[in-house]
Amino acid sequence: MAGKIVIDMERCKGCGLCITVCPRKNIAVSSESNKSGYFPAQAKNVGCTACTQCAIVCPEGSIEVILEEPQRMRIVATVAKKDTPHLVEEKR
Ligand code: SF4
Ligand code: SF4
Repeated sequence: MAGKIVIDMERCKGCGLCITVCPRKNIAVSSESNKSGYFPAQAKNVGCTACTQCAIVCPEGSIEVILEEPQRMRIVATVAKKDTPHLVEEKR
């Protein structure tokens, strides 16, 4: 079964943890910065197995993981709610 991820690139702080842990090298650094000036992680969505390691390690809760099953798409890890405090302090 295949998986895919969706990254909230405006919430991402570009720490690179998700890129480091992904066993399928499915995540890269974007060449464009977000509104906060960080270069966020970007999904390639080639070879993702929906293992959720990237979502578990993300300190910002920026990654949603979707498992594509024969009859349905199932969200197996979801992004943190917008009002959830970020673990990394916001830039002022
Ligand atoms: S769910 Fe697993 S395979 Fe897919 S991008 Fe995240 S770490 Fe990589
Ligand atoms: S772990 Fe989260 S905050 Fe860090 S680069 Fe990946 S998506 Fe961005």
